[in-house]
Amino acid sequence: MPELEVIASRLNSLLQGKTIQKAVVHNHLVLHGIEVRHFEDELTGKAYEAVRADGKFLLISLENGCEIVVNPMLAGRFWLMERPKRPSKMDIFQLHSDNRTLRYTDRKQMSRVYLVKGGDYSQVAEFNERGPSALDPELKLAEFKQHLKHRRGQIKSILRNQKFVKGIGNAYADEILLYAGILPFRRKSSLSNEEVEQLYNAMRNVLMKFKGILEKRSLDEIALEKRDFMMIHNRGGGVCPLCGGRVSEVTANRFKTNYCQTCQK
Ligand SMILES: [Zn+2]
Repeated sequence: MPELEVIASRLNSLLQGKTIQKAVVHNHLVLHGIEVRHFEDELTGKAYEAVRADGKFLLISLENGCEIVVNPMLAGRFWLMERPKRPSKMDIFQLHSDNRTLRYTDRKQMSRVYLVKGGDYSQVAEFNERGPSALDPELKLAEFKQHLKHRRGQIKSILRNQKFVKGIGNAYADEILLYAGILPFRRKSSLSNEEVEQLYNAMRNVLMKFKGILEKRSLDEIALEKRDFMMIHNRGGGVCPLCGGRVSEVTANRFKTNYCQTCQK
């Protein structure tokens, strides 16, 4: 999520008020609930109103009340080009404005793209059922505890569940749990009050810190997903930055989990 928040605010400042002169869809498979022709017609000639992130979704609203809702899944990427680019196999759509093209690509073609009118997100899969944003200032420790009360199972699965809080993916969950000092496979029911508080603080600190790092990077750098700032995720067999021990790794359902047996209890 920190990536999407930074991307959204960057796109917002660069696109706001600009008019889409031409919208072209290059891959119709990821469009949901709308035909290519309608999608292109609805966008052409409209001005950007705002771009914002909402959990794992990116929302691009236009002056006519339409909103492009993108769920980038694993491999959706946004690029801002100075001129139109000849589409490749991974291009999904390009929106051309004066000396600026917003290009959206997805090499895995797993994204979901919708066009929403009047703020009705009912057709957007897994949108309405979500919990508060992990970075929402209103989500204080007491609210966090309250939301956690209704969840059961392993703590990492809960953290990644968007119905609990939105915006935490697999990699960020590993980072948060390292700093919280909690093993990813612990049952929620086994966590002490103190551990829940450590988890809350680690969630806020890790996400804010990574957001700060990403804010200094260009859109192209973010799109390349160089997550060199991560301390434990994807570092199986490497050295734990906190204790110097070995980083453990377990893969389940195609998702990798990294943790430290010394720092995490
Ligand atoms: Zn360690």
